[in-house]
Amino acid sequence: MITVKQLRKSFGKNEILKGIDIDIAKGEVVVIIGPSGSGKSTFLRCMNLLEQPTNGEILFEGEPITARGHNINVTREKMGMVFQHFNLFPHKTVLQNLTLAPTQVRRQSGKEAEKIALELLRTVGLEDKKNTYPNQLSGGQKQRIAIARALAMQPHVMLFDEPTSALDPEMVGEVLDVMKKLAEGGMTMVIVTHEMGFAREVGDRIIFMDNGQIVEQGTPEQVFGTPSHDRTRDFLAKVL
Ligand code: ADP
Ligand code: MG
Repeated sequence: MITVKQLRKSFGKNEILKGIDIDIAKGEVVVIIGPSGSGKSTFLRCMNLLEQPTNGEILFEGEPITARGHNINVTREKMGMVFQHFNLFPHKTVLQNLTLAPTQVRRQSGKEAEKIALELLRTVGLEDKKNTYPNQLSGGQKQRIAIARALAMQPHVMLFDEPTSALDPEMVGEVLDVMKKLAEGGMTMVIVTHEMGFAREVGDRIIFMDNGQIVEQGTPEQVFGTPSHDRTRDFLAKVL
């Protein structure tokens, strides 16, 4: 579904991504772990071209999205993204938050968008909040709504950048549960997280990034159980 070839990204003279290669299959759940500042967010942001790569190529469903003249808006609709901070529209109800983009960008009818939105609210367990405004929701609820809002565009892949890092501890589980359900439903997912238990349980593949490079990758058993690099071992010793 996604192929990344020799991806490089610099900010000024600072090279942040130093040649990333990866293939992500349809239905795969890839979890990216690594120290702060290693380039995880930059990598995710390059994948949907929120950041323009300095070098390299990205293919999405076979199409070179980094090629000149490619219409990134079409591709971005197929890539849902959820960030640490939820950025819900504060003056819109939960239901309106979910129907806005589908009706305006995808030209769905209001009725159809609402039907899909209600299904998604059921999926994330918040159907009863449809007429609520975001400021009346807890952090965990807001993040579940943010996930539902991304799903409302019917993306082919979901990118998550530390979706639980800003949450109070007691709310982390409800968001991870939604993500787990999504993974079990066959969604292709790329997830940056510090939740190692979740990574181990839900990830098909774990990628350890450090200093702008993929240091090692493998199944959760391999990476958590028998890491083959010192840098991975050092990192895991600190976080586990
Ligand atoms: P991570 O998500 O692994 O913590 P980031 O991708 O956020 O790492 O950041 C990697 C490095 O890139 C950091 O040193 C950060 O300061 C730098 N960086 C990220 N975004 C920008 C930017 N827009 N301009 C300049 N430097 C940036
Ligand atoms: Mg980050």
